[in-house]
Amino acid sequence: MNDNVNLDNHTPMMQQYLKLKAQHQDILLFYRMGDFYELFYDDAKKASQLLDISLTKRGASAGEPIPMAGIPYHAVDNYLAKLISLGESVAICEQVGDPATSKGPVERKVVRIVTPGTVSDESLLEEKRDNLLAALYQDKTGFGYATLDISSGRFDIFECTDRETLQAELQRTDPVELLHIENFIDMDLIAQRHGLRRRPSWEFELDTARQQLNLQFGTRDLTGFGVENDTKALRAAGCLLQYVKDTQRTALPHIVRLSKSSLDECVVLDAATRRNLEITENLSGGSDNTLAAILDKTKTAMGSRMLKRWLHSPIRDQHILTNRQASINELQLLVSVLQPLLRKIGDIERVLARLALRTAKPRDFARIRDAYQILPKLHELLAHVESPHLLQLKNTINQFDQIAELLTQAIIESPPVLIRDGGVIATGYHEELDELRLLADGASHYLEQLEIRERTTHNIDTLKIGFNAVHGYYIQVSRGQSHLVPIHYTRRQTLKNAERYIIPELKEYEDKVLTSKGKALALEKTLYDELFDLLLPSLGPMQASATALAELDVLTNLAERAYTLNYTCPHLTDKPGIHIVEGRHPVVEQVISEPFIANPVKLFPERRMLIITGPNMGGKSTYMRQTALIVLLAYIGSFVPAAQAEIGPIDRIFTRIGASDDLASGRSTFMVEMTETANILHNATDKSLVLMDEIGRGTSTYDGLSLAWACAESLSKNIKAMTLFATHYFELTQLPDQLIGVHNVHLDAVEHDNTIAFMHTVQEGAASKSYGIAVAGLAGVPQPVLKRAKQKLRELEHLSKQASASQVDKSQLTLLDDVEPSEVEKVLANIDPDSLTPKAALEQLYYLKSLLSSS
Ligand code: ADP
Repeated sequence: MNDNVNLDNHTPMMQQYLKLKAQHQDILLFYRMGDFYELFYDDAKKASQLLDISLTKRGASAGEPIPMAGIPYHAVDNYLAKLISLGESVAICEQVGDPATSKGPVERKVVRIVTPGTVSDESLLEEKRDNLLAALYQDKTGFGYATLDISSGRFDIFECTDRETLQAELQRTDPVELLHIENFIDMDLIAQRHGLRRRPSWEFELDTARQQLNLQFGTRDLTGFGVENDTKALRAAGCLLQYVKDTQRTALPHIVRLSKSSLDECVVLDAATRRNLEITENLSGGSDNTLAAILDKTKTAMGSRMLKRWLHSPIRDQHILTNRQASINELQLLVSVLQPLLRKIGDIERVLARLALRTAKPRDFARIRDAYQILPKLHELLAHVESPHLLQLKNTINQFDQIAELLTQAIIESPPVLIRDGGVIATGYHEELDELRLLADGASHYLEQLEIRERTTHNIDTLKIGFNAVHGYYIQVSRGQSHLVPIHYTRRQTLKNAERYIIPELKEYEDKVLTSKGKALALEKTLYDELFDLLLPSLGPMQASATALAELDVLTNLAERAYTLNYTCPHLTDKPGIHIVEGRHPVVEQVISEPFIANPVKLFPERRMLIITGPNMGGKSTYMRQTALIVLLAYIGSFVPAAQAEIGPIDRIFTRIGASDDLASGRSTFMVEMTETANILHNATDKSLVLMDEIGRGTSTYDGLSLAWACAESLSKNIKAMTLFATHYFELTQLPDQLIGVHNVHLDAVEHDNTIAFMHTVQEGAASKSYGIAVAGLAGVPQPVLKRAKQKLRELEHLSKQASASQVDKSQLTLLDDVEPSEVEKVLANIDPDSLTPKAALEQLYYLKSLLSSS
């Protein structure tokens, strides 16, 4: 839109629009006109594209027609949901004046701003996914980051100095809307995200931030939260809070504290690891075949969200972990009785957020009521639990009998969606409301008595009182008796067989009924508002209860999963190392049709690196990933897919698995691979679990081999990390001879009838063969190519002075000797030289030559 539009060229209505639009320039403005929300100019063009709605034009009083697009008001939620999911924000402008009395265009106002990170409406939120708003600050010393989940009040801050850590945190939290300071330098880290909002630097001012935060939490300073010195993160938090206030335009009583996430408390997963392990998202961006897909059978959406948070933030506090383990153990017996109750309790967390924001709908109150009615039953089931953690959860879940009682009395069994037309407050809750409603329904005895009185006084036995929407109350008398009506009856309507009249007394009554309707509705709305006031003082305990219920759901779910999927409780110890007996890959074992072959892992300081060899498709990646996933599960407190597991202290998990071109940022496969490797070499410690898969693939053989060799050396000799190192470079199997703590293992395969069978068992020692060409044959690479490869292999072997060191396996050649003869060979075999004329011999020679060139 042209900034300097001349308002005089526009109709008063458009002038009003342009003024409002000027206050909301960067976001879409939904401008209410009757039954539609209209968008104009660039907004219209953008919306028509994003929402696939038609773009029309509106005539201007002068100049160009105005592009316009409209959305029917009753379908607005669907369109909003779509826009929100695309990261767009929308200002909703309603008609607030009365069209009947206003002279110019009816008065309009922006009543709310819907942004992806601040929505709390059920219809706009993904049920099983956290919906976070984030803010990002940067200065010379590093990054400050803050996230808020408005639907639970969780407000977290984080600081770091390097890009990799920030990237991992961005990926972990995955905000739907991200406010960043205007001069943010590392834009490439966030450029691909939806919902980016550039904010001016003054919004990140430290003093203002402190002031805002203290005001919000009702504190004098922030020392109580242990965040006083995290100034970069506080700046981000300040900007974020201000943004929420500006868009929500309401109090936020459920945001009561700030917590700081610290790397020391977690098992750190970098961005690549999070992706590679396919925790909640698979490599193609979906949720199938992820760890969460297997593990999440929670009964409430809040439980599902919590489990996913756990999976993304494994923790190191053994006390918390053993508490969870003990709870899971004890809950195994209660799964079948607890889960149906949890399902009925539902997503109380988000309901309470709407209560806090005073946007709760009548059905939200009904859901609080229904959930709290279940709590006594839940407490009965938990009556005999013994583990300290479960006892604590039980206490926090608490019981809210008074609130349940209040809401049972106040809200009808199944209330309508909106309070707008009333019918939400139950009969018996408020005397005056009941009376008004009786009057409003005309259900009093008054009419009956009036009817009898008039009938007898005037002796008209066909007289009765009726009501219709057009004429209101009337007295009806049959045509035959109409001559009997008294003089003060005024005729209103003549029907075929009857006459209808009104009398002043009836009119008066009618007015009273109508005003009672209005009064009843107004009273009902007041009472509804009062419910917020009655419930909000208990918000804190109610929220704590919801969180405890979510955790109970997660732990019960983990108990059920442990039983159903045959997991065992891992032993967490202070002794460094990982010892797994019959470990399985939690996802692969569920999706393959053949039986899964369980494998052991033994890592400890004297055996800290395993060089893993074996054919492609042998199961190397699966083996490495399952080890990481078992460790991850152990560190959320879950049971694990293994017969036995003993797991020592782990500070980080790194994976360098499978390279994919990061097209978005324009980095080649090799570059991605090396960036990830650099990150590992910089940050891994002797307590880290490192998975290295096929490093050095993206470059020439000698480059790659040398790099792989050097990395393996550095990891085992200097860093001393627990490392699983899968490689196709056979040379690396010599490392164990040269370095302490390095061992060979391999995945087994057997040749059989010209083909390979993968055993998927992990054995000590290096693989005896490399099966590259045979596997290529299995994959359908054409015979001529295989044959040529075999030939080339022989040449290379011959050429290489260190033929033995190259470990090219000659048995592979025997396997290929049985391949189909080529066309040339077939033709040659059929030639009988003795029977050929010289001319025919020459022709055959030409023919053979032509076969060669065509193959
Ligand atoms: P590699 O990394 O050696 O090329 P993968 O780990 O990708 O091999 O495994 C290839 C396939 O083999 C997997 O997709 C899976 O179907 C199967 N597989 C791997 N490990 C096992 C196992 N332990 N038991 C059964 N099947 C397995």
